[in-house]
Amino acid sequence: MAFFSTLNTDKTNSTSNIKTSEKQKIIIIGSGPAGYTAAIYAARANLSPVLYEGLQPGGQLTTTTEVENFPGYPQGVTGPVLMEDLKNQAMRFGTDVRFGIATSVDFSAKPHKVVIDDEHLIEADAVIIATGATAKYLGLESEEKFKGSGVSACATCDGFFYKGKDVAVVGGGDTAAEEATYLAGLCNKVYLIVRKPFLRASKAMQERVQRTPNIEVLFEHQTKEIVGDISGVNGAIVVNTKGEERKIDISGFFVAIGHQPNSDIFKPFINTDETGYITTVPGTTKTNIPGIFACGDVQDKHYRQAITAAGSGCMAALDAERYLGEINS
Ligand code: NDP
Repeated sequence: MAFFSTLNTDKTNSTSNIKTSEKQKIIIIGSGPAGYTAAIYAARANLSPVLYEGLQPGGQLTTTTEVENFPGYPQGVTGPVLMEDLKNQAMRFGTDVRFGIATSVDFSAKPHKVVIDDEHLIEADAVIIATGATAKYLGLESEEKFKGSGVSACATCDGFFYKGKDVAVVGGGDTAAEEATYLAGLCNKVYLIVRKPFLRASKAMQERVQRTPNIEVLFEHQTKEIVGDISGVNGAIVVNTKGEERKIDISGFFVAIGHQPNSDIFKPFINTDETGYITTVPGTTKTNIPGIFACGDVQDKHYRQAITAAGSGCMAALDAERYLGEINS
C-alpha cells in the first residue's frame, strides 16, 4: 500500500503538504491517562518517547471536576490537576510532549509513518495509540451549558456527587442500564429516559433495571431541555411520542448514549470491531500490525476508567519496549 494512497479520503493528506520530517524510536498519540502512563514507562526505559497531545490535551478527564477514585489521591483531585501531574511525571523522565494532532498514518511498511497536522512526517519503529473515545451527547444547547454542573457522561466518575438526590440517565443500552443501576445504589431516585418502547440492553441488565425499585423507566421519551440555574441542574423537560411534555425534578443528568472511539485514521490498517474499537490480542496491547500498540479507551468499551486506561498504557509501553528489543537484537 503506497504511502497516503489509501488515506486520501481527506484531501489534506497529500505528500505535497509534508514540510518537515524526522525519525523517532517511539511515538505515543494521545494525552489521557493511557498516553501519559505509556510515556512514563517508555521514558524510564530510555526509549525517548515523543507524545502528541491531540485535540483535547489531557483527554476526557479535563472535562470532569473532582476525581475521587484514582488511587493515590486520598482527598480527591480535579481532572485537570491529575492530568497536569501525569504530564509533569512523563516530562520528568524526558518525554518530549508536543502540541499537535495525528492527521494520518501509514502502517503498511516499516518504519511506521505518522503525519502531524497534515505537514510533519514522523517515522517511528513503534507507535502507541492512546487516542481515547469521545462520549456522545444529545446535542442540546442546555446540555452544553450545564456540562460539569449537573450534566455528565460518566456515572462512576460523578455519581457520588448526587448521593441521596434524584437524577436521570438517558439511553437504552448496556451502559445506560449499568449507569442507572449504579446510580440507584447512591441516589434517591433514577429516571431512565429511553426513546424506544424497549431497552436495547442485554437481558440480564434489563432484569437488573426491572428489579431495582428506585429506577423509573420512561419509555418512548426524549429530552427536550435540561433546566437549572447558577447552582446547576434542577430539572429536565421530557416529551413522549404523543408530544406530551413533563418536567422531572432532578439534580444530575447522565448521558449514556454511547461513545465514539477515536480510531478513524487508523482503520485502513488496524483491525477494529464493528463499533470502531481497536481490537488487541487478548491480555496484551498488540494490534494486528507488529509495532503498533493500542491502550486506553480507544480499545476498551467495557471499563473506561482513568485507572484502567493508565494500566493499559503501562502494558503498551512494556509491549513496545519488548518489541523494540526484539527488532534491534
Ligand atoms: P449502545 O449503542 O449499545 O446504546 C446506545 C443507546 O442510546 C441506545 O439505546 C440508543 O437508542 C440510545 N441513543 C442513542 N442516541 C440517542 C439519542 N440521541 N437520544 C436518546 N437515546 C439515544 O451504547 P452503549 O454505550 O450502551 O454500549 C456500547 C457497547 O458496549 C455495546 O456493545 C454494549 O453491549 C457494550 N457494553 C457492555 C457492557 C457490559 O457488558 N457490562 C457495559 C457497557 C457497554 P436506540 O436503542 O433507540 O438506538
